[in-house]
Amino acid sequence: MADRYLRFTGTAPGRFLTRRLGLPRPAALHRWSPERPALDGVLLHLTAGTSAIGGDAAAGPGGTSENGGSSSAAGRGLAAVLARTGLDVRTSVPASADAPVAAVVLDATGVADVDALGEVHAALHPVVRSVAVSGRVLVLGAPLDPADHHQSAVQQGLEGFVRSLGKEIGRGRTAGLVRLTDAGAAESTLRFLLSPRSAYISGQVVEVGTAPVTAPDDWERPLAGLTALVTGAARGIGEAVATTLARDGAHVVCLDIPSAGAELTAAATRIGGSALPLDITAADAGARIADALPGGLDVLVHNAGITRDRRLANMPADRWAPVLDVNLASVLRTTDALLAKGALRAGGRIVCTASIAGIAGNTGQTNYAASKAGVVGLVRSLAPRALAEHGVTVNAVAPGFIETRMTAAVPLFIREAGRRMNSLGQGGLPVDVAETTAWFASPGSGAVNGQVVRVCGQSLLGA
Ligand code: NAD
Repeated sequence: MADRYLRFTGTAPGRFLTRRLGLPRPAALHRWSPERPALDGVLLHLTAGTSAIGGDAAAGPGGTSENGGSSSAAGRGLAAVLARTGLDVRTSVPASADAPVAAVVLDATGVADVDALGEVHAALHPVVRSVAVSGRVLVLGAPLDPADHHQSAVQQGLEGFVRSLGKEIGRGRTAGLVRLTDAGAAESTLRFLLSPRSAYISGQVVEVGTAPVTAPDDWERPLAGLTALVTGAARGIGEAVATTLARDGAHVVCLDIPSAGAELTAAATRIGGSALPLDITAADAGARIADALPGGLDVLVHNAGITRDRRLANMPADRWAPVLDVNLASVLRTTDALLAKGALRAGGRIVCTASIAGIAGNTGQTNYAASKAGVVGLVRSLAPRALAEHGVTVNAVAPGFIETRMTAAVPLFIREAGRRMNSLGQGGLPVDVAETTAWFASPGSGAVNGQVVRVCGQSLLGA
């Protein structure tokens, strides 16, 4: 199951051989740890054109703000949020090698015509080489304006720009686009994308809305005092999600099938949570979850999932039905039941687990891809209503190739292809999906709704 190639390329003989043979050398990603909680280096804050984040920031020469956009209320709002990431914010590349560029944030919210798009090139072309290993290039864009096809064209252009940059930038560095109108509403998102917690996310577009946001009292423990329920928590991604939500302060109820008993109890005990042995496909699963949580629930993570792969021509109904039941029907049923009972408190969060197979399709997975595409449909349809009627956001993670028992069972050559066919040249870890879930779950993410974020190292599948 372990990625031996990645480990080998990190050794001296591995480095030598891969260089001599011209083989790919995936970078060891910098992930969050208590010892290294932040990216290493400074944050470069640039502006292309005139910032449109809630106002008008003056741009400096070459479209790049001399003062990081801090000459207007809008620019100051963004500058203040960036300063709170804990990174040292600069507006030009530091001369000293002691201050590597950990991240570049380019405010392109005001880019509304092709000439202004040229300022994106002008701002990033001279600095992109300076970005450190495992660093970030984050472009901030504006929501597309349906009444302005010029603005929509160039803002959509940013998407192609960022996706291409993610593919070429290499060395564990990632690129992303956040569409926003208000820096405060996007604080949890900017903190997440500018931290090692988002190491395996690249080439993604996140749209942050304008719903009111409650900043957590403590950004290190944003879920303190809250209750979360994670399905499929006995192992794999679910166990990592439970662990990460507990790290962030939540009391976590770990749900899994009764036959996972010992593993489930061990996982729950390890994080100081509680175990709920329950088959999520039971018709009354929602009611039983609500009964087990008389005090209510703040974060519901639908993670349990199964595969029963076979090409459609060889797939009997008994391989189709359970996949649709676990991965989609039970998600619909329990979500409906818990919302109807008011079991999810206002400010609550629902995080579903899709898959890149549900976006791109995959040979032998018509059942699985149908179920996971169904999850995407659920999220997009329910998100606006759940927020309006219950104050609850609904989002999805869409993992790519993640190193778990599920992918360890994949035949060797397909497994190797899955690991390497992405911009970071390696598989993700369960914690990468868990960190993304924790970002959605944060009280600070109230304006992040209806999003499907791929945690896939920018897999070539469906890209
Ligand atoms: P896994 O098989 O390691 O773990 C899944 C867990 O869900 C198990 O503990 C299992 O007992 C539990 N579960 C299954 N059916 C259940 C039911 N009816 N009721 C309650 N619990 C049930 O899988 P994983 O790799 O950790 O995947 C977790 C989720 O991520 C799944 O939804 C999967 O489809 C999705 N996903 C995984 C990958 C990957 O690369 N591993 C990629 C894309 C999506």
